[in-house]
Amino acid sequence: MSTFEELGVIPEIRQAITELGFENPMPVQTEVIPQLLSHKRDIIALAQTGTGKTAAFGIPVIQKTDLTLLSPQTVILCPTRELCLQIAGDLTDFSTYVEDIKILPVYGGSSIESQIRTLKRGVHIIVATPGRLIDLINRKTVSLKHVHTLVLDEADEMLNMGFSESIDEILSNVPGSRSMLLFSATMPKEIEKITRKYMSDPVEITIGRKNEGAQNVRHLYYMVHAKDKYLALKRIVDYYPNIYGIVFCRTRKETQEIADKLLQDGYDADSLHGDLSQVQRDYVMNKYRNHNLQLLVATDVAARGLDVDDVSHIINFGLPDDYEVYTHRSGRTGRAGKTGTSISIIHIKEKGKIAQIEKLIHKTFEKRAVPKGDLICEKQLFNFVDKIEKVKVNEEEIDRLLPSIFRKLEWLGKEDIIKRVVSLEFNRLIEYYRQAEEIYEPEERSSKSRRENARSERTGKRQKNGVQPEKGYARLFINMGKMDGVNPATLMGFINEHVKGKVPVGRIDLMKNFSFFEIPEELAPKVVKTFRGMYIEDRRLVVEVSRGENEPQREKKHFFESFEGKKKKKYTQKR
Ligand code: AMP
Repeated sequence: MSTFEELGVIPEIRQAITELGFENPMPVQTEVIPQLLSHKRDIIALAQTGTGKTAAFGIPVIQKTDLTLLSPQTVILCPTRELCLQIAGDLTDFSTYVEDIKILPVYGGSSIESQIRTLKRGVHIIVATPGRLIDLINRKTVSLKHVHTLVLDEADEMLNMGFSESIDEILSNVPGSRSMLLFSATMPKEIEKITRKYMSDPVEITIGRKNEGAQNVRHLYYMVHAKDKYLALKRIVDYYPNIYGIVFCRTRKETQEIADKLLQDGYDADSLHGDLSQVQRDYVMNKYRNHNLQLLVATDVAARGLDVDDVSHIINFGLPDDYEVYTHRSGRTGRAGKTGTSISIIHIKEKGKIAQIEKLIHKTFEKRAVPKGDLICEKQLFNFVDKIEKVKVNEEEIDRLLPSIFRKLEWLGKEDIIKRVVSLEFNRLIEYYRQAEEIYEPEERSSKSRRENARSERTGKRQKNGVQPEKGYARLFINMGKMDGVNPATLMGFINEHVKGKVPVGRIDLMKNFSFFEIPEELAPKVVKTFRGMYIEDRRLVVEVSRGENEPQREKKHFFESFEGKKKKKYTQKR
């Protein structure tokens, strides 16, 4: 293995990177640094984020800068403002001991005037998003005639974001003699076109195999009914109590919805997408970077600017249509030598995509069953107990309080105290999973429903004659069932969300298209009244006191009634 010194890096830069903790060059640096320092050949580097590519191009461009010529000599183009700031910041770090080097990030969404003022004072290296650089070129506030190196970072993403024409225009403004470096995580056809058009006899460097995901990432998938995807997500997150993850969604709307649901359900989550203002995006990203947020729910584009090394899990809430996007997503974990997990929650129609992605990344996906409630509770409990074992105790402060605490708890044994501490933390979770229906893979589910059908045939007689509610309770019918994604927890939540005051719900019987639930007799009129005339999407909700008549027959009647189409109140069910 070579050292930075052997690669030809000057002592000023070596000192700075040593202080940053770089001991030895990473593979992309070993390949790129000497090429850039000694040759004028163009380079195509296929490297994922997290491989050390910023230093691979950053160190040589700093070293090649003629400090006496106060004019842009290197232009680094990248897709987003965040990445622009990140690269400029990294280059500033690498050049701590290179006196008087001027590095300027220029990006949209911030004052162009102050960027123009800095440009007028003179800069050596410009890190830019394509749109803003074009703007500056058109205003004739920047001259690129001394540019000898042009770097396209995350080129595939710039093309995805529609910057192809802007890149053309920028290239026509820099001297033809410049050397060009193109970094890309993937190599779609469009990139090959660019390289053919603008590069002469490029050296191709591949870190890892082409189009391959990071080596130390495991790929798992869970197959569920489309309507169970969110519930499966919750279970997976619960199953990994120390998760620090990014949940990727397909659209801005879905991103916001999933983040909102997670927040409502008590998770430490927030959203990142293009409908948020820049200030909001910065706020969320900082929260995530500082680990003040456990789950970031994001669109692909918005997450591009986020550079975090210790993401433990990527969750694909559905698979992207463009498989290259999958490599981008999964490349956000397993970085800087750490291991990571890329999880995909898919529905049955997406199964074919798994095989396609496996071919692309040369790795096999492991299929997993959605964790069962008891397993999740056990995992959370052990994690909690582990935390108790490892917590740092502030002896001095606690000592002062201990005598009175001991006095208060002296009537309890050690075992009781442990039980109580654990119950305090876990009663809600245990209760939720006790009530929640397990989530099955679609095939398993059909054999399960066959079992259920057989059972209901056996108990059909009891149903026909009507089930008697518990004493003091009324049995209510609702025309929503398992097919609507209802489970005991969501049904209880739904009732309590709409009915004023707390409604204690007793026995719940879920059927395919309808359900029964028991509530205290005196609350029945209020509950029935609350839901009268309410619509969920285009379906009229029916909640009635069950009189023990032939229930399947009655359900049939309501099923047809509910599609009468006379819209009164429109409601979208929150779950
Ligand atoms: P990048 O691919 O440029 O985003 O770099 C990923 C991470 O690796 C960043 O946090 C860098 O600071 C770090 N890094 C880059 N080069 C080295 C090196 N030679 N040794 C240790 N860490 C490095």
